[in-house]
Amino acid sequence: MNPIPTSKATRRACRITKVTAYVVGMRWRNCVFAHVETDDGIAGVGEGSLEYQPQAVAAAIDQLAHRYVIGSSAFSIERLFNDMLRNEFMRGPIINSAIAAIEMAMWDIVGKALDRPVYDLLGGRMYDRLPAYANAWYGQAKTPAEMEKAAAAVAKKGYRGLKFDPFGDSGRDPAASEIRKAVDLVAAVRQGVGPDVEVLIDAHGRFSVGAAVDVCQKLEPYNLYWMEEPVDADNHGALAAVGRAIKARLATGERCTSRYLLQSLLSTNEVDVLQPDLIHVGGILEGKKIAAIADAAYIPVSFHNPFGPVATAAAVQLDACTSNFVMQESFCEYDVEMRFDLLEHAPKPVGGHYDIPDRPGLGVGEFRPDVALAYPFDKDAFLPLFKSGWAERF
Ligand SMILES: [Mg+2]
Repeated sequence: MNPIPTSKATRRACRITKVTAYVVGMRWRNCVFAHVETDDGIAGVGEGSLEYQPQAVAAAIDQLAHRYVIGSSAFSIERLFNDMLRNEFMRGPIINSAIAAIEMAMWDIVGKALDRPVYDLLGGRMYDRLPAYANAWYGQAKTPAEMEKAAAAVAKKGYRGLKFDPFGDSGRDPAASEIRKAVDLVAAVRQGVGPDVEVLIDAHGRFSVGAAVDVCQKLEPYNLYWMEEPVDADNHGALAAVGRAIKARLATGERCTSRYLLQSLLSTNEVDVLQPDLIHVGGILEGKKIAAIADAAYIPVSFHNPFGPVATAAAVQLDACTSNFVMQESFCEYDVEMRFDLLEHAPKPVGGHYDIPDRPGLGVGEFRPDVALAYPFDKDAFLPLFKSGWAERF
């Protein structure tokens, strides 16, 4: 079944014997992990967290394990990815996320079997360490003065940039007073970080085209590094209309679930930074391919990363060997502390940068099921971006 040579005693097939999905309540979202075991005694971990449907992903992981994964070699990443994606037919966020959880765990196993980090298997490392930008740092800050103080504290840690959504629960066409309030918050943050820290704004697809252009023009004095999803990214023509009218870089891509959908998005020539999510696209290898497609259009990538420690570790591995990597999104220092207990070695920025681990696989050591089980599925873990006060859940 598997074209993997097993005749040489030194080569292990690492046939998968067991896949266990875990849903872990982590304050404002549940994260999903797949723990994958092999007949060689090597185990790996992957992450399939998806905005707000964790149990659906966990069920899909179980189903995929039964249909495709049990009995396959952990080295059959390309074949298994295509097998799952094509046969599942109605692919999309849930199937892709389940595939990603399994795929990341396969890379972790392969790296451990070969005693090499994953980046060494995908081109080798290019950097000494990885600049990061902070997110979720502003949960308790509401007034401009509070935002300025919180932003200054982030900048002091050494991050290259910081990101936030200053628009509250705004919808397609906010009132002038709502826009003014957001502009005041951005002004305060720029004041707090000074001229050299990048200010990134995420609008989470809130606006109409007209409102988006208006807001972006009002924010021009604050020298934004990027404006992310000023309108929803499903309609590429509408997104491009905003891109043409604004000065800030247009960032998008976290909801683009495959390299096939990417063609139409990039053909607008209006995307300035692409933000693939390694879970939403189906794993590390698909992320590598998408980064190369972006590079062919001279577009840098910044992998979307709001979830748990395994997804962060996977992003760090891919960042390390990606020529058009720009900076890594990081929630780590503004997240639940237990994220550092789920793994033997969970990534955490130091001085606003990620170190690149030289441990094998994803560099995380062993997954700790006992910790995962201590934080079960939480029905209320949710971040409704169109209901007031959502950021307080950070
Ligand atoms: Mg975003």
